[in-house]
Amino acid sequence: MKPLILVTNDDGILAEGLLVLAEAMQTIGEVVVCAPDSERSGSSHAITLHSHLRAHPVRGGWWRVSGTPVDCIYLAIHHLCSRPPDLVVSGVNPGFNLGTDVFYSGTVGGAAEGYLRGVSAMAISADRGVDPRWAAPVCRDLARAVIADPRRVLLNVNVPGIEGHLEVAADEIDLRASELPIEVTRLGNRVYEDMVDPRMDPMGRPYYWIGGPATRGEDREGDDTHAVRAGVISVTPLEMNITAPSMVAASEIVSRATLGDKVDRR
Ligand code: MN
Repeated sequence: MKPLILVTNDDGILAEGLLVLAEAMQTIGEVVVCAPDSERSGSSHAITLHSHLRAHPVRGGWWRVSGTPVDCIYLAIHHLCSRPPDLVVSGVNPGFNLGTDVFYSGTVGGAAEGYLRGVSAMAISADRGVDPRWAAPVCRDLARAVIADPRRVLLNVNVPGIEGHLEVAADEIDLRASELPIEVTRLGNRVYEDMVDPRMDPMGRPYYWIGGPATRGEDREGDDTHAVRAGVISVTPLEMNITAPSMVAASEIVSRATLGDKVDRR
């Protein structure tokens, strides 16, 4: 039986990156697409628990859902798919998801939900302004390798363009993209300018835009940020347990807080 691949994104069912990813997955398996009916970028791991969801069949194997990427994956795995998927893929996002972006990203959220539901998963993002077809070959090759491996993994993949990528002819993209170097990385440090832009609506009430542009942070060799800056495809393995590696600070704070306390808190 062909592997079943579940595809989502956070940019909505009409996004070009979703179509490119679904087509790439069709070359290696049976595909179910279940994606938000509108843009949900920045929705992280949000799940809809206090209002209803609707799922509309768009065409064979394609569903649009009135929710987040996490809602889509949850609903698809537990209800819409005829069997458990072998892989969840999310993307192709127009814009990198590097470093701390993974905490905000709906693209990563969708993939992470697949992983939490027991399925290997990949989030795929390409540099802003890069044709998502640049990501298709690596999506296909990685998907095949992940499906063939018995271990459950969650991979955050970022695909840079090459110098002058906009001039590359459409029928050459696949070949040129297959030649991009690839590296396994750790999450780096992506820095943004802090920004709150207060404005006034026509009724005289204030409203705000938050979130500034990315600036250049320091990155070390081996970081995802470093890799994409060097034109290398970055593959970062993620896990979902963010317990701090050291318990020292918390232990000291807790013992200081409870010092001299006669009450046994256990
Ligand atoms: Mn997005």
